[in-house]
Amino acid sequence: MENLLSISSFAIGALFGSFFSLVQDRATRGEEFIRTPSHCVGCNTKIPFYYNIPILSFLFLRGRCHNCREKIPKIFFIKELLSGMYFILAIEISNFNIPVLLCLVFFYFAIMTVLSIWKSI
Ligand SMILES: [Zn+2]
Repeated sequence: MENLLSISSFAIGALFGSFFSLVQDRATRGEEFIRTPSHCVGCNTKIPFYYNIPILSFLFLRGRCHNCREKIPKIFFIKELLSGMYFILAIEISNFNIPVLLCLVFFYFAIMTVLSIWKSI
């Protein structure tokens, strides 16, 4: 049960890490980030959902686009990994105390938002 909770927490954290990477990347390039489907910066090919799974797709594709082999920045992978680890830590530290857990999640969102804005200015 604990393993399932850790895996779920890690997956949710990795998804948020992926989302914040996307927001930061697109804000830097001045792209719309809500309605624009994921695409390669190099060849502009749409990325299918099965190549858009945080951490796993990066490892499977060895950090390159599935179509043109353009390098995917390693910082995306690092953010997904660290976000996943942070969410596991948040669950462990909070010990299921909901207010503490919410504070830790809010702290994560605040830091990631500041980093996204800071890097895109
Ligand atoms: Zn490409």
